[in-house]
Amino acid sequence: MKSYDVAAFGEPLQLFERPTPQPTGSEVLLRTVAAGICHSDLHFWEGGYDIGGGKMLRVADRGIKLPLTMGHEIVGEVVALGPEAEGVAVGEKRLVFPWIGCGACAVCRRGDEQLCMKPTFFGVFRPGGYGDHVVVPHPRYLLDISGMDPAQAAPYACSGVTTYGALKKVGPALKDEPIAVIGAGGLGLMCLSVLKAMGGKGAIVVDLDPKKRQAALDAGALAAIDGGAPDAAKQVVAAANGGVVAAIDLVGSGGTVQLGIDCIQKGGKVIVVGLYGGAITIPTPFIPMKAMTVQGSYVGSLGELTELLDLVRTGKVAPIPVTCRDFHEADAALHELKAGKLIGRAVLTP
Ligand code: NAD
Ligand code: ZN
Repeated sequence: MKSYDVAAFGEPLQLFERPTPQPTGSEVLLRTVAAGICHSDLHFWEGGYDIGGGKMLRVADRGIKLPLTMGHEIVGEVVALGPEAEGVAVGEKRLVFPWIGCGACAVCRRGDEQLCMKPTFFGVFRPGGYGDHVVVPHPRYLLDISGMDPAQAAPYACSGVTTYGALKKVGPALKDEPIAVIGAGGLGLMCLSVLKAMGGKGAIVVDLDPKKRQAALDAGALAAIDGGAPDAAKQVVAAANGGVVAAIDLVGSGGTVQLGIDCIQKGGKVIVVGLYGGAITIPTPFIPMKAMTVQGSYVGSLGELTELLDLVRTGKVAPIPVTCRDFHEADAALHELKAGKLIGRAVLTP
């Protein structure tokens, strides 16, 4: 099999050829049909996360060994099954749930494998979708996407379930009041589609890039505000007639989390998803005085991805713009994403 791997942080992806693995036990071997490129891949490829004060949380310090095949938004066609794998058939195209935990701890047993302390996620801790084959440990992680376009379906495994999980955290007010969505990239446009499908009132979108703001308006945003404007928070508050009930921050820099705090009403929530990084100082009296919640949201559970696919099957989740690139263009696509040139998602296809 062939894969395009991170062999050294920040260096071009490198082509590797290895024997195609054979599935054992409950494993399933798939031929990759579509693999989305997430901004999280960029953070990984760059070697880690900015934690403010000039410091970095380095991927290498988390026990990750290179070379590594990235890619966690994967649709594959089943090509072989281990002797104990049941419930999927050769030739079926399936979406891979990538956020696999140890399976044994209390967190995994309650169905939150994505929050396991011993994660074995695709494209981070095990080889992912930037390769022509992937091995999935158990058929329960292979979701039915009959009737869906693989290039549209692949992003549901991360941008979809992540924004669905973040939107659920807003609560019932989602249907009655506008929220703010900061960042109109792959996650941002997906968030708008899922919000609408969930019956949401709508979103005031913030982005630095006018092309991304236009894409958000095209996708039905109530307003699109330049995050670089000195009065960006005031503009969001005005557009919401007095502050939003929640801000979903799909950038997650110090500046955007502060913007989220400045946009919410009393009792509001800032739901931080993005991993651009940085740090902020929050005067502690503001936390009770504003009765605010700053909550992190990390991808989503297998149950949530199943719920999201049910929502997609209702036909209510509008497709997001997708740019398909050949597998051998993985490195170029990563650079396009870094340069902010892509609208929506880039998806690698064979
Ligand atoms: P993307 O590159 O497709 O989109 C990012 C968007 O943010 C772009 O439109 C860009 O113009 C905009 N932006 C950048 N800085 C901004 C700022 N200061 N103010 C306003 N807008 C700004 O990226 P993506 O794939 O949508 O991912 C977004 C972030 O979410 C990344 O940091 C990624 O690692 C993270 N992420 C987190 C999770 C999670 O579970 N927590 C899951 C997936 C991705
Ligand atoms: Zn992702």
